[in-house]
Order: sequence, then C-alpha cells, then structure tokens
Amino acid sequence: MSQMHHIPLPDVLPAYAYRVLSALEAAGFEAWVVGGWVRDALRGVTGHDVDVTTSAPWQQTASVLRDAGMTVHETGIAHGTVTAVCDGMPVEVTTYRVEGAYSDHRHPDEVRFVDDVREDLARRDFTVNAMAWHPERGLCDPFGGREDLSARIIRAVGDPLCRFDEDALRVLRAVRFSVLLGFDVEPATQGAIASRVDVLSQVASERIGQELDAIVRAGKAGRALLEQPDAMCAALPELADARGFDQKSVYHVYDVYEHIAHVCNAVEAFTAGQSPAELRWAALLHDVAKPATYSEDVAGHGHFFNHPREGARIARRMMRRMAIPSDVAVPACELIRLHDERMPLTKRALRRLLVRISHTCPGREVPLAFSLFDLRRADAVSKRTSSASFAVELDKYTALLREEIALGPVFGVRDLAVSGADVMNVCGLAPGPAVGMQLDVLLQVVMSGEVPNEREDLLAWLAG
Ligand code: ATP
Ligand code: MG
Repeated sequence: MSQMHHIPLPDVLPAYAYRVLSALEAAGFEAWVVGGWVRDALRGVTGHDVDVTTSAPWQQTASVLRDAGMTVHETGIAHGTVTAVCDGMPVEVTTYRVEGAYSDHRHPDEVRFVDDVREDLARRDFTVNAMAWHPERGLCDPFGGREDLSARIIRAVGDPLCRFDEDALRVLRAVRFSVLLGFDVEPATQGAIASRVDVLSQVASERIGQELDAIVRAGKAGRALLEQPDAMCAALPELADARGFDQKSVYHVYDVYEHIAHVCNAVEAFTAGQSPAELRWAALLHDVAKPATYSEDVAGHGHFFNHPREGARIARRMMRRMAIPSDVAVPACELIRLHDERMPLTKRALRRLLVRISHTCPGREVPLAFSLFDLRRADAVSKRTSSASFAVELDKYTALLREEIALGPVFGVRDLAVSGADVMNVCGLAPGPAVGMQLDVLLQVVMSGEVPNEREDLLAWLAG
C-alpha cells in the first residue's frame, strides 16, 4: 500500500495546474502532479514546470481539457502525452503507463497504459522523481522518495542494474540529478553506474546531449567530471584520453582531465555562477584536443601545438552530434579557438580580436570577448600556482575592453560614425564600388586608432 502524507503543498501549486487536475477529476478520472515539480516543491523550490499523470486515456484528457476551455496540443500521443495550455502556461499530461524493454537502448519497444498510479511511478528513474502529489489526497510515495530527498540521496527505483539495462541514459541522469542537487548516489546505484557506463555509448547522442547540456548549463560540469569520471568519459568519449594524461610541462600541476575540471569550476568562480552557456561549454571542451596534438621536445617537455584550433574542430563535431544548438555551439567553438591566442595588451589587438569574433558571431563581440577573458583567467589559475599572476594580467584586458565599449566599438563599416552618403558628399563620388572602398579605408584608419570614430573627425579626414 502506498504511503500517503499530508504535505502543505497546496499553497504553492499554481492555480492553472489545479484547474487541470480538477477538470480531469470532475470528469471521473484520477490525476496527480508528478515528477520534478513534486521533488522540487518538497525542497522548497517551486519554479518547476508542472507535469500531471492521469488515469484518463490521452483522447479523453484532450477532450475534457478542451471542454474546460484549454488549448491542447497532441505533443506525444504515441506515449500518451498531451500538452494543455491553461492561463498561458503549458502543463504536460500523460496517461499512467509503463514501458517495455529498450532493446536498442534508445526507445522503449512498447508503451503499455495502466490504471494504477503506483505502476506509473514504478517506471520512473529515481525515488526522488517517483512521487505523485494531489492537493486533497496528499503524497503518494511508494518508494521512499521523501526520505531519500531529506537524506539527499539519488537511488534508482527498483533494481538499479535492471533499470540501467532498460535505459542506459539513466546512468547519466543519475549523474545529472546528483551534481545539480548536490546529492550522493546510493551505493548500489553507484555500483550499477560503474558496470553500465559502457552501454551509455549506445544511447542516442541527442539524448546524451540533452542531459549533458543540463549539467553544463547549470555550471556543474566540473563537479560531474571530478565526481563521476567514468560516466562523463562514457558520455564524452573524446575526453577519455585526457584522463591521466601527463602534460610534462612545468606550467601544469594537473593532468589534462583534472585541469579541465578545474577550469570549469574556476569559470563559475570568476562569473559568480552566472557564466553564459557558451563559456561553460568552452571550458569543458577547451583542451579536448590536447592528447591528440601532444608532442615532446628533446628536453622531454610536452607541447600541444594547434590544440585550440583542433579542439574547436573536435568540439564542433561533438556538439553537432549531441544536437547542442548552434547559438551555443558556434560561440563556444570560437572561444575554444581563441583561448590560447597570444595577444598584446593594446587597443589595436583588442579591436582585432573583436573584429575576428564578429566574423563568426556578429553582434555578440563584446560579451564573447568578456567570456574569452574569463576563460583565459580560469585557465591560468588552473595551472601551476605561479601562473595565477597571469589572471591579474587579464584584468587589464578586461579594463581595456570596458574603455573600448565606452567609446562605442567598431566591428565593421556599419559601425562607423559616417555613412556612404557622407563619403559621396565629401569626396564628390557617384554611387558605386568606390564608395565602399573608401568606407573600408576609413574602417582601417579607425581600427588602427589613427582617427577616432567621431563624425567630425572622420569628415575632416575625408576632406583632407
Ligand atoms: P528537470 O528539473 O530537469 O526537468 P524532471 O524531474 O522534470 O527534472 P525530466 O527529464 O523532465 O526530469 O523528466 C520528468 C520525469 O519523468 C522525471 O521526474 C522522471 O520521473 C521521469 N523520467 C524522465 N526520463 C526518464 C527515464 N529515462 N527513465 C525513467 N523515468 C524518466
Ligand atoms: Mg522536467
């Protein structure tokens, strides 16, 4: 028999979700809030989207909720899911179901609908995710999720080996929930992770990508690398060679893999946990090409020539495979490409950098330049301690960048304080390619710092 607890959650259940439950129950079905919302509400976090599980077959769910005035999208009817939009808020409503075997480790072979909520909870991955809650009936928690939540434990529902065999993605989901929530993985579940990491490589790459993206975007990649190296290397096989890879360099105290983990953490420290997604991905993959580009000089010192360029190439391929959106992947790869570039501390070099970024990521030059300095700072403090002084050096670049922004940075002719019409007027030119050429010349003189990007100065320069 399931345990029922009366937990004072009704205050926090949003009214729109309450309406979904009520409409279904008024029509004679049973409906519960389930999964992440229940877990997070019990932790005192109520920002989570609401998922509902119901005894109603999806066709009935759809008609009941439409009759109640909601819009219903048939988002996943093959597995019994529809999305109701109530007061502008989406609620996923899924029919009680269990899944058959995942013989290809990718998709369940079949989905079977059932009529007991506890059966539906039993197919869920971890005890903390396998609780249902209803404002009047309270908590339905047949697997001790609440207890594990207070003990801060991630524990598979049922036999962990069987559950990971059914769907190896759960290996990575265990890592994700453990590092995001800061929970320990229960020993039997951790043991099952160790013996099933190999199967993870058979899971569809975009599913792996989704879980990894959640880890990375939460700023927890460093923690995941250090706490769960087997699972992380199975998910990112390109990082496996970095593990234990001795850099044979006086600049490094860590092997490549540990260095990467420290850089991920340092980036969070420098941005107070507010790093943009591309910076987080760049930190994770910035040295991915180090093992492949390694060479040793006669003195036995290690070198990694071209590892930024090669790393950007490998990272792009990995992120494509994992279906990481290109608005994150493209700037991340640009940061990787630039992370080790020599750069004098001059405005001219800074402008060159901004223009270079503008070629791959137009419109995002300034935030990406800041991210690049954060990445380089994080890289510096994750080497030998004395390299940390380089981090201080980087503060000067950031200061220079701030000055440049204050002046209104110039990345292309469109940013010049004069237009083609001005050029035609002052130089007496007719419309044609000569106007564009003159603008390009102007851009060069502005970029080199010869003339400030001020209308008066530029007009005077043109006239002279
Ligand atoms: P998040 O806060 O990340 O959205 P969540 O708990 O909502 O956390 P989802 O990945 O959105 O996680 O999945 C919703 C629910 O569906 C989970 O709480 C879990 O009960 C169940 N679930 C999702 N994926 C799986 C899976 N691969 N195996 C078993 N159960 C799963
Ligand atoms: Mg969710």
